[in-house]
Amino acid sequence: MIDLRSDTITRPTSGMREAMIEAQVGDDVFGEDPTINALEKKAAAYFGMESAIFCPSGTMTNQIAIRVHTAPHTEVICDEKSHIYLYEGGGIAYNSFASVRLLQGDRGRITAEMVQDNINNPDDVHAPISTLVSLENTMNKGGGCVYDFKEIEKISAVCKDKDLKLHLDGARLFNALVATEDNPKSYGQHFDTISICLSKGLGCPVGSLLLGNKEDIKRARRVRKVLGGGMRQAGFLAAAGIYALDHHIDRLVEDHNRAKSVAEELEGLSFVESVLPVETNIVIFKLADNALSVNFVEKLKQNGILAVPFGKHDVRFVTHLDFDDDMLQDLIVKLKAI
Ligand SMILES: *Cc1c(COP(=O)(O)O)cnc(C)c1O
Repeated sequence: MIDLRSDTITRPTSGMREAMIEAQVGDDVFGEDPTINALEKKAAAYFGMESAIFCPSGTMTNQIAIRVHTAPHTEVICDEKSHIYLYEGGGIAYNSFASVRLLQGDRGRITAEMVQDNINNPDDVHAPISTLVSLENTMNKGGGCVYDFKEIEKISAVCKDKDLKLHLDGARLFNALVATEDNPKSYGQHFDTISICLSKGLGCPVGSLLLGNKEDIKRARRVRKVLGGGMRQAGFLAAAGIYALDHHIDRLVEDHNRAKSVAEELEGLSFVESVLPVETNIVIFKLADNALSVNFVEKLKQNGILAVPFGKHDVRFVTHLDFDDDMLQDLIVKLKAI
């Protein structure tokens, strides 16, 4: 089976497994796991931020950030395709009692002007108080597209001017950084909090980090505990994260090149109506003749390919660490045979 359902399906490499076995560990709820402490320090420094907290998942890091930045009667501004809205189980309401303002961006990317136009008048008691803007980069539902950093600077300026917090769901931020060669420290300057995932393109079995200033991360520790995310000797997992930051960032370009090759092949196939432009490791294509994606994904499975339906007529492939050039050639042969 060629598994392109997600970049979360990867297994740790032998180098990563060795790093995990050798990890020094302690009780992290007491702040005594040296490997977790080292990972948090390393990740924060990478983005030029003060502090970080290791969590089991990206859903938890996003939800903690939203909880830290909002309160009842407030509103989060984000694109309608955002993971925080679509794929976190209604957590904004459940965990933070906050409202959501959904914008219609370009493949999930919103602009400073859109943010500006959707900030409520804080003196109007009818309206929730606009408090937080959340961006996603790369944008999953938008086919792994990347923000132009100039737009992020403009959004950040609006947030500063209007006293809003700015959060980044950076589950695939490393893919964006590799694609654009933007400076990670510029991200640290413009966002109040950043969530990054180790369990996607970087190939770790588990783990995400929330980055921010000391005060916000201190509050995040309290929220993580109450969500049940306080782990003990989780340094074994953090060791995988340190290994990934050292060895698995630059190689993401391979995933991006393979995704582009897959897209080029798809363009020429009769069952494909169109393919979204590929910028990173995600390929989303629309099926011809209004074919249903659920049926087509089943057909792919019978032909040895795993993918996910991504809308009624759309299918998603994600390239990753466990998808190599031989598998790419095999995939192309299998796709042509359908
Ligand atoms: C995967 C993902 C997350 C976090 O998912 P978890 O499975 O909870 O780690 C958050 N945002 C985006 C855009 C994602 O793709």
